[in-house]
Amino acid sequence: MMSFNALILVALGYVVFLFAVAFLAERRAAHGHSNWLTSPLIYTLSLSIYCTAWTFYGAVGYAARSGLEFVTIYLGPTLVMVGWWWILRRLVRIGRAQRITSIADLVSSRFGKSTQLGMIVTIISVIAATPYIALQLQSVTLSFAVFAQSEGVSWDQPDFVASGMWVAIGLAVFTIIFGTRNLDANERHHGVVIAIAVEAVVKLCALVAVGVFVVWGVAGGPGEMLNHIDQSEIVLWNQDGGRWVSLIFLSGAALLCLPRMFQVLVVENADERHLHIASWAFPLYLFMMSLFVVPIAVVGLDLLPAGSNPDLFVLTVPLSEGRGGLAVLSFLGGFSSATSMVIVATIALATMVSNHIVVPIWLSLQGNQHATMSGDVRHVILLARRLSVVGILMLGFLYYRISGGGTALAAIGLISFTGAVQILPAMIGGIFWRGATGVGAAAGLITGLAIWMWTLFLPSFGIDAIISQTTFEYGPLGLSWLRPQALFGVDGLDPLVHGILWSMLLNTGAFIVGSLLSFPAPLERLQGAQFVNVFEHSNAAPAWSAAATGAEDLLIMAQRIMGSKEAQALFTQEAARQGKAGYLPEVTPDFIEQLERVLAGSVGAATAHAMIGQLIGGSSVSVEDLIAVADEAAQILEYSNRLEAKSQEQERTARALRAANDKLTALSIQKDAFLSQISHELRTPMTSIRSFSDILRDGDMNAAEQGRYAGIIHDEAVRLTRLLDDLLDLSVLENGQVELREQTGQLSDLLDRAVRAAGMHDGVLEIRRDHAGEQLTLTTDLDRLTQVFINLIANARKYCDAEKPELVISVKRDGDRYAVDFIDNGSGIDPENQELIFEKFSRVADGSKAGGAGLGLAICREVMHRLGGEVTYVSQHQGAAFRVRLPHITAAVALEET
Ligand code: ADP
Repeated sequence: MMSFNALILVALGYVVFLFAVAFLAERRAAHGHSNWLTSPLIYTLSLSIYCTAWTFYGAVGYAARSGLEFVTIYLGPTLVMVGWWWILRRLVRIGRAQRITSIADLVSSRFGKSTQLGMIVTIISVIAATPYIALQLQSVTLSFAVFAQSEGVSWDQPDFVASGMWVAIGLAVFTIIFGTRNLDANERHHGVVIAIAVEAVVKLCALVAVGVFVVWGVAGGPGEMLNHIDQSEIVLWNQDGGRWVSLIFLSGAALLCLPRMFQVLVVENADERHLHIASWAFPLYLFMMSLFVVPIAVVGLDLLPAGSNPDLFVLTVPLSEGRGGLAVLSFLGGFSSATSMVIVATIALATMVSNHIVVPIWLSLQGNQHATMSGDVRHVILLARRLSVVGILMLGFLYYRISGGGTALAAIGLISFTGAVQILPAMIGGIFWRGATGVGAAAGLITGLAIWMWTLFLPSFGIDAIISQTTFEYGPLGLSWLRPQALFGVDGLDPLVHGILWSMLLNTGAFIVGSLLSFPAPLERLQGAQFVNVFEHSNAAPAWSAAATGAEDLLIMAQRIMGSKEAQALFTQEAARQGKAGYLPEVTPDFIEQLERVLAGSVGAATAHAMIGQLIGGSSVSVEDLIAVADEAAQILEYSNRLEAKSQEQERTARALRAANDKLTALSIQKDAFLSQISHELRTPMTSIRSFSDILRDGDMNAAEQGRYAGIIHDEAVRLTRLLDDLLDLSVLENGQVELREQTGQLSDLLDRAVRAAGMHDGVLEIRRDHAGEQLTLTTDLDRLTQVFINLIANARKYCDAEKPELVISVKRDGDRYAVDFIDNGSGIDPENQELIFEKFSRVADGSKAGGAGLGLAICREVMHRLGGEVTYVSQHQGAAFRVRLPHITAAVALEET
């Protein structure tokens, strides 16, 4: 018989052996010899962490207590591996394409990289895993105790605690060394995987050896064994159909949702094809593990005294038969089961805790400081992982201590599973249903967590431990429909079935309703499409590896966004700066930052960051996806540009319409004013003509009077005629119907004629002229030009208010043309009226002065306009000053002749 101390030595030796195996595997992987490390066999063996100490020892106990029900724990994963491996394939593909590091990362990434969802999943996983880790510590210490007691060594509570602590410390050291050695881009841990593969072999060999011993060594062959089983009470157990279905579902779902299973299935998967082999090899492994459970249980019940713990039959049967070596092998099997589970679970949970809780909090504490992915951050993450490893193991140990390592732990395995599978709806929905949203996922997860806590987890501490007896019986605050084991009044169900049923139903319901009622954010939709259509979007091989991300890929993307000319210019410039020929520069961090800034100008900072991040930091999106996104962005840009152009055009049209409308309104006002002006102007002479002709008709007057009145009538009639002539003239000019009659003549002759016609013979106005300058020959409509001169001279005569009115007519050269100035010595025209006087009917002098109807200057302007010259008011003179610019052609003729 082996001494207890020898057992401790063997255990320590085994641990050293595992360290060595892991160390060698890491070394070989580091040297690039990782082929055999990533074989399908190793992959399948690593999946065996599904079989923990709870299965190794507990399955036999389970069978001894409840008959064949333990089979469900193997059936669930078998069905998933065989029947639903396409779910696994999808998970593995997504894990690869999106560089998923944990199940929390999967859920968070799917729903728009949501920090909150990552936290929720992490919290659920930690809560669910803690009792399970405690269970492993318990099984190791229990197995120590079995040996100690068989030796007569005293083994009390303090020893349990101490050995539990040492095991926890050893596991922490191993996990920190091999599980958080570095921040591998794909989070693969060769050393750990090899160590757990070795442990998988050890535990299978141990269980099979004990089984073989029991069948052939104790029972006396398979035939005897079957007889034995037939007579045993195990087969008499009534099996509950509801529990069977629930447990098969639960264990199948747990294979997908347990963080440690996700770690080995998805994260550590090196090649998708390994799944094909694992899909039959892993069920085979499970079959081998379960093959001898019933024989060991039956023999144990037979052999050992009533009341011995069936959970330890695997150890106690060989011991009681005096097979020390077999017992030690069995111990190592149990030890392997416990440690491999704890190591992987701790790595998975530590990754989740550090990535989804510690780092986000650390980043938010950093505040506005720009946190780049520098060595600094890597350091923080590694530290966070190591602290998380210690924290998680400490939680497990504390739970183990507080629960006292009693039998309560035995039941906790399934409850733990139920907690973990709350992630299932969000996970499955996320990878198959594009409409699933983060809001729905959060609603489902929180609902499931709450119901699981209330119906299973809290009650598992025992009645009155956390939930009181009265709450169990009558519900909290007397609300009977909230009784932890009879929610909504559904009574009489097995508590586990009840908990699974309600938590999964309400979880799924909340997830679906939440998803239907909410609208996903853009990133969430993009991720949703990536996940659901993972097979269209990604190749089996990684779409991008960091090294393969060359400048060329970046250029393709940049061209899509910036346009090819600009992108090529940018790249060529950078290449030149780096001293490289061609247009493809080295992809340096500086350049990436620069590119990102440039791209941000086109697609927005967030998109640019995400796109570059995905290209550089390994891809979660394939090239096609990126190009699709870029195309989409370009289309949106183009579309919005077009929209903008259109709206600008519409604005211009609207402005033009408004202007036209304003003009029409103004014209209509002008027309009204014009009509009322006309009627007024016509009325005045008409009134005097009518009244004086009335007087004449009465005939009661002398000849002198008669002559005077007839003269007035004549004058008024003449005025009326002139007015009508002017109006007619103006209208003809304005409508452009005027016919010009070109003639050639001397400017001086025109002015002579004008002075005469303006009635200068009375000598009221003195006129001074520049006869030399007037020697210009003009070819234009001379009559019309004279009309303008007459008007200007007549105005000076009429309106010049100087004591000795004087008008200077001078000829000037104005650029390449000639201009005739008419400047009098009156008081001139106020600046605000200088433009107005050219309008129809505008008169600024007081009405007492004998003036016209205010049409003269308007006609002048129209005439000059027709002739190709212009008449303006020149403001810088003392008196009124008008300048007539002669038409261009006439001036040219004049130039030739002078
Ligand atoms: P009208 O046909 O009534 O003379 P015009 O169009 O020729 O009208 O002139 C418009 C107004 O400009 C006149 O009513 C007058 O007040 C002002 N005006 C024109 N010429 C002179 C001038 N040489 N000195 C002062 N005011 C003038």
